[in-house]
Amino acid sequence: MALRLVFLGPPGTGKGTQAMRMEKRFGLKALSSGDTLRAEMAAGSEIGRKAEEYIKSGALVPDQVVTGVMLAVIGRLPAEAGFILDGFPRTVPQAEALDAGLAELEAAVDAVLYFQMEDRLIVERIASRRICSQDGKVYNLLFRPPRTAGRCDACGAELVQRDDDREDVVATRLDTYRRETAPLVAHYEARGLLMTIDASAPIDVVSETITTAIKGLGGGK
Ligand code: AMP
Repeated sequence: MALRLVFLGPPGTGKGTQAMRMEKRFGLKALSSGDTLRAEMAAGSEIGRKAEEYIKSGALVPDQVVTGVMLAVIGRLPAEAGFILDGFPRTVPQAEALDAGLAELEAAVDAVLYFQMEDRLIVERIASRRICSQDGKVYNLLFRPPRTAGRCDACGAELVQRDDDREDVVATRLDTYRRETAPLVAHYEARGLLMTIDASAPIDVVSETITTAIKGLGGGK
């Protein structure tokens, strides 16, 4: 069954890491709005130029820009493909636009996994996050360090901190989350789609929880 899932939650709670793991485990395509926008920025496209200032300051990119990009990404998947949206939707208007876009494809969101974690842990995790400057692979100095300090295990390139992972920007991102994205928890709960998971558990435990949830939704192998 082609499951269509949303991973919802504050930045730094492991949504991207778990989406990649579930892509490998179940073949559900992991679609990250943050990665998509950063790729547009790196390519110097018009969308990338529009998004840049917002991303750098920790604000949200305007709904229309993100919605257009993400619905296009979804629209390029084969009709029978399942997917996981990581970081999208992030506002109620985005959620409504997603529903409308999926309805045109005769599809709908099957479930929303809410990654719950307290702020103190979020700040600690983001501060220790590093990414490969070449392939974007994500590390964490606390619990997923590279084998050689400062170097990517896979390609040996230098590990860097995302500009918006710096402390001052993180505070803004958390504020933005609370104001604009947190209302989606109630939005999806009211629709009976919300499943809350404890994102502060060790990575493998969180993966197991999500794996069980996906199997329960009928997406298991
Ligand atoms: P992320 O990699 O998910 O933490 O996203 C990084 C940044 O990209 C966010 O702080 C926003 O500026 C922007 N962004 C990503 N997804 C969205 C979205 N759904 N709506 C608005 N802005 C977004």
